[in-house]
Amino acid sequence: MAVKKIYKQDGNQSMKMRTWAHVLSSLILAISLFPVFNWGAVIILVSGVLIDIDHYFWYIYKYKKFNLIDCYIYFLVDVPNKNFEDALGCLLIFHTAEFLMLMVVLSFYSTYSFIFTIGLLLHYALDVIYHITVPKRVIANHSLFWWILKNKQKA
Ligand SMILES: [Zn+2]
Repeated sequence: MAVKKIYKQDGNQSMKMRTWAHVLSSLILAISLFPVFNWGAVIILVSGVLIDIDHYFWYIYKYKKFNLIDCYIYFLVDVPNKNFEDALGCLLIFHTAEFLMLMVVLSFYSTYSFIFTIGLLLHYALDVIYHITVPKRVIANHSLFWWILKNKQKA
């Protein structure tokens, strides 16, 4: 029933497209880089698509609920329907400057980290395009440090 509900939401076509855009672009990039990195190129699918698992971590943190499908519907339907207000300032750990910096540093030491970072940058690029075209503003807090500081002040 919940899945049917998603498909009835025409206004959220862009969100569904978003997941597919990540899958498709990562797949194309992974295949393109296969001659260079061999099976290591598969890592691009992890950083290009699966890093969005941090939305689930946030969902667990905020709502103390563990249903992955409910979480998907929450971000796919509920958040856009409420004009993204619910997700303002949320912390998506793999979408932070600190995580990017960590991966860039690790890239100097390991080829796998380097491949991961390539996929990560592709993912970020698509996220940026999405945010420019749909919510037209920044939603999440993209710094772990800044997020901790802000939440300390609230407490
Ligand atoms: Zn993302």
